[in-house]
Amino acid sequence: MKVAVFGSGYVGLVTACCLADVGHHVVCMDVDDEKIARLRRGEVPIYEPGLSELVRRNLATGRLHFTTEAAEAVAFGTLQFIAVGTPPDEDGSADLQYVLAVAESIGRHMRDFKVIVDKSTVPVGTAEKVRSQVAEALAERDVEIPFEVCSNPEFLKEGSAIEDFNHAARIIVGTESERVRSLMRECYAPYIRRQEKLVFMSVRSAELTKYAANAMLATKISFINEMANLTERLGADVEEVRRGIGSDLRIGYHFIYPGCGYGGSCFPKDVSALAKTASEVGYAAELLDAVAAVNRRQKRTLFDKLSQAFDGELADKTIAVWGLAFKPNTDDMREAPSRELLESLWQAGARVRVFDPKAMEECRRLYGERMDLRLCRDREAAVDGADALVICTEWKEFRAVDFAWLRGVLRCPVVVDGRNLYDPSLAKDAGLLYYAVGRGASL
Ligand code: NAD
Repeated sequence: MKVAVFGSGYVGLVTACCLADVGHHVVCMDVDDEKIARLRRGEVPIYEPGLSELVRRNLATGRLHFTTEAAEAVAFGTLQFIAVGTPPDEDGSADLQYVLAVAESIGRHMRDFKVIVDKSTVPVGTAEKVRSQVAEALAERDVEIPFEVCSNPEFLKEGSAIEDFNHAARIIVGTESERVRSLMRECYAPYIRRQEKLVFMSVRSAELTKYAANAMLATKISFINEMANLTERLGADVEEVRRGIGSDLRIGYHFIYPGCGYGGSCFPKDVSALAKTASEVGYAAELLDAVAAVNRRQKRTLFDKLSQAFDGELADKTIAVWGLAFKPNTDDMREAPSRELLESLWQAGARVRVFDPKAMEECRRLYGERMDLRLCRDREAAVDGADALVICTEWKEFRAVDFAWLRGVLRCPVVVDGRNLYDPSLAKDAGLLYYAVGRGASL
């Protein structure tokens, strides 16, 4: 099949490469000239395991092309995937300007039947807006060309995006059209050889399904974080409670790890966009509001614990930070708990020495050169001469550490672990003042 993908970010690029890899012919279009120039050379501007190899392999087969020309992408494919960003607007709703800009250019350039496939995460009712935008552009040209709009939300996770795309648990397609169902079945046929994964439903249900999934996952995280905050005050251990509840099959172990709050480009914006959608139809989504509020509070716990450990005296302290990305195996720092921590530390007059296996470039891009930020080459360099250590991301390479060594290099033996990586009793035996999440008395 011939497919066009608009957007070459985490979702667009992975979609384009994976579809080319199974034999489709794909043009991936982005408005960012520099990104496209790099991609054409086989350079991937983001870190995602396996993605560079996939881009290079499919460029070599000739089944994957990159362009900045919308007209070229529109002419190329019957299926037109929209995979551009939908960042939060000031009021928390999803900003649809990029989605609608793509819709407008499809309407401006199309010459024959197209299926516009919405892969971006968009509020219920967006397919209708996309339809109107395309129709308006066609009317301006004074032409009548048939087209369909369907919803095909993406569920991949950064860090395992290729694996998730290739082995999706389900592929949701929202459409009422038999023709679209058959084209989407053809597109995804290579992925459904072993078992049926295509779930067809109405467009509105498909749009809502994506938000419902992310809201459910965010709820699980805020729930366990609420339990962690309680265990700190009740003399219990959240890790024991986690194992105790996870063994119940109705609850399960997935996604109930306590920590310093969820981040990334999806959960925070999607929970608030869904709450906004609810308020627009006169419904107060109290659970969603609470999930977001618990998360905002949780992100502040890193700084609060550190501040209490130093009696509020953080000015001129040097704090080591391990992990900047919002989760391991990505360089994405959007809404990461580390950012809340860094910015609070700077406001308090502290200096930071940071290390992340993949997000150092992103950190430099976000914060530039500053006297109070030192980008370190490894975890050892970050703690060298620091007063305390904070762990923000559970990268594999932070999981084992020689506590005696750590005790020796830190000027004060304070470790705030936002990811519960270590056994508190071992850390304490080594002389560290170790503060994890929900494991022992709060400060
Ligand atoms: P991103 O910010 O990484 O990439 C978006 C890309 O779209 C950018 O490269 C940008 O230059 C490009 N773009 C903007 N306007 C354009 C236009 N008019 N034409 C062509 N390209 C244009 O975004 P992302 O993380 O890939 O997310 C895309 C969508 O997918 C969002 O709605 C997001 O919520 C959703 N989503 C993201 C993930 C994830 O893990 N990142 C997972 C599932 C769904």
